[in-house]
Amino acid sequence: MRTTSLTDRLVISKLLVANRGEIALRVIRACRELGIASVAVYSDADARALHVREADEAVNIGPAPAAQSYLVGERILDAARRTGADAVHPGYGFLSEREWFARAVREAGLIWVGPPAEAIAAMGSKTAARTLAVAAGVPVVPGTTSALRDAVEAREVAETFGYPVLLKAAAGGGGKGMRVVHSADELHDALASAQREALNAFGDDAVYVEKYIDGPRHVEIQVLGDTHGTMLHLGERECSVQRRHQKMIEEAPSIAVTPELRARMGATAVAAARAAGYVNAGTCEFLLDRNGNYYFLEMNTRIQVEHPVTELVTGIDLVQWQIRIAGGERLPFVQELIVPRGWAIECRITSEDFQNGFLPSTGRITSLHIPSGPGVRWDGGIEVGSDVGLFYDPMLAKLIVYAGTRDAAIDRMHRALLELQIEGVETSREFHLRMMEDAEFRSGDITIQWLEAKLPALSAILPSANDLRAAVIAAALMAERDRNAVRAARPDVSTPDGATAWHRAARVEGLRTA
Ligand code: ADP
Repeated sequence: MRTTSLTDRLVISKLLVANRGEIALRVIRACRELGIASVAVYSDADARALHVREADEAVNIGPAPAAQSYLVGERILDAARRTGADAVHPGYGFLSEREWFARAVREAGLIWVGPPAEAIAAMGSKTAARTLAVAAGVPVVPGTTSALRDAVEAREVAETFGYPVLLKAAAGGGGKGMRVVHSADELHDALASAQREALNAFGDDAVYVEKYIDGPRHVEIQVLGDTHGTMLHLGERECSVQRRHQKMIEEAPSIAVTPELRARMGATAVAAARAAGYVNAGTCEFLLDRNGNYYFLEMNTRIQVEHPVTELVTGIDLVQWQIRIAGGERLPFVQELIVPRGWAIECRITSEDFQNGFLPSTGRITSLHIPSGPGVRWDGGIEVGSDVGLFYDPMLAKLIVYAGTRDAAIDRMHRALLELQIEGVETSREFHLRMMEDAEFRSGDITIQWLEAKLPALSAILPSANDLRAAVIAAALMAERDRNAVRAARPDVSTPDGATAWHRAARVEGLRTA
C-alpha cells in the first residue's frame, strides 16, 4: 500500500503511453514510481516488445507501418476509452507535436501530458515560432519568417545577408527538408528539392531561408512550466556532435556555457516559452557562436530524446514532472537553486552500421550485455529476442553516464561502451568508442560542422585496441578448442597450448602481451 501523501494527490490514475521503444518504457517507469497504472499500445510488429510487457495493460492498435498504428489518433483514443485511461503521454516523435491530437485528447475528456494544443500550434511551424520569437525580443538567425514564394524571392533574400544560406522546411524535423546553398546558381534546384522532401516528409512544402551560420554550437535550454504561472529553465544541453543535422551525442552542461551565459540563455528561453503560453516540459534550441551570441532555432514542444542528461545534472525527474504538472501540481523549485552539478553524457545507440556509412541494420538481437556500475544509466527498448526492423526509428537505446567532471564522464562512457555487447544487428557502438578516444572531442572544442569533417578519418582508423585484444583472445580460445579436439582424436600428436596461440596471435596483431 502506498503511504506517500505526494502521490495520493495525483489526479491521474491510469496513463496511456502513445509510443513505443525506450521512451515508452521511460514513461511506464515514471508511472510505476508515481503509483499510476500504465497502458501500452503496440503495432503487430511490437506484439512481443518490452514496453508491452512492462506496462500494466496493452492494446494492439494495428499493423506495423506507423501510418496504420502509432500515427492513428482515433485508434489510440479508442484504446484509452477501452482501458479507462485518464491521461495520454505522447513521448517524442509520432503524434507528440501534432496540435490536432493534443486537441482530440482534450476533447475526449482526457488529460494531455504535454503543452496546450495552442502552444504546440504557436511553436509547431518554424516560421510561426520565428515570428513569435521576434515579437518576444528573442534573437533569431537572420532570415525570413514566412515561406518562400519562389526561387526569385529566395535569391533576393539570400543576397541581403550573403551566402551560404540554409533552406529549411517550415514543418521540419530530423534535419529533413534542409539544404545548404553556397551560391545563387544552386538556389533554384536546391529549393525545388527541399520543397519535394518537405512535402514527402511532412505533407507541407513550405520552405524558408536562414543565413547559414558557420561554426556554431547547438546549445538548447530545457524549460519546465506549471499551470500556476511558474516557468523555470533547467540549464543547457550541448548537442553539437551531429551527423546530417541529427544529434549523436549530448552533454549537460556545455563546456562553452558560463553561469552568466546560462542565466541569459535561460531567461531568453523562458521568455519564448511564456510568449507561446507554454506549460509542461519543452526545449528551446539555439545556435551559439564563438562570441557568446546565440540565436533561437525552434522550440520542441515535447520531451526530448536527450532529456536524461539534464535529469542527471539537476536531479529533477522530467518525465515525472511532466505527469505531475499535467495533473495540476505546482513546481516546488526555485530558479536560483537549479544549478548543474557534475557532468552527464548520452550516446545514442542505433542499429546503424558505423563501418558501413551508418547503413541501417536489421535482425534479431541474439545477445545483449548491458553496461552497469557507478554512474551508468541505460534507457533501452530492446532485449534478447527483440526484432529490429525498418518500420521505426533505428535508436535501440541511450547509454548515459554521470560523473564529477567532463573528463571523468568521458572515461566512464568509454568504460561503459566497452562493457556494452549487442549481437544480432550492427550498431553505432564502435562510433561512440572512437569518439570517446578522440582528442578533439575530449578537448570539447567542436562545432555542429565538426563531426561531418571528422568522419572520414574516424572511419579509416584501425579497430580500437580493445577490439584487437578481443580478437586475439577469441583466436586463442579457438586454438585451444582445436588443440583439445586434435588431442582427443590423436593423443600421439603434440599441439601448441592456448597461451602459445595467444602470444602468436598477439604478435601478428602487433600487441604487447606483457
Ligand atoms: P530539425 O527540426 O530538422 O532538427 P533544426 O532547426 O533543429 O532542424 O536544425 C537542426 C540542425 O541543423 C541544428 O542543430 C544545426 O546543427 C543545423 N542548423 C540549423 N539551422 C542552422 C543555421 N541557420 N546555420 C547553420 N546550421 C544550422
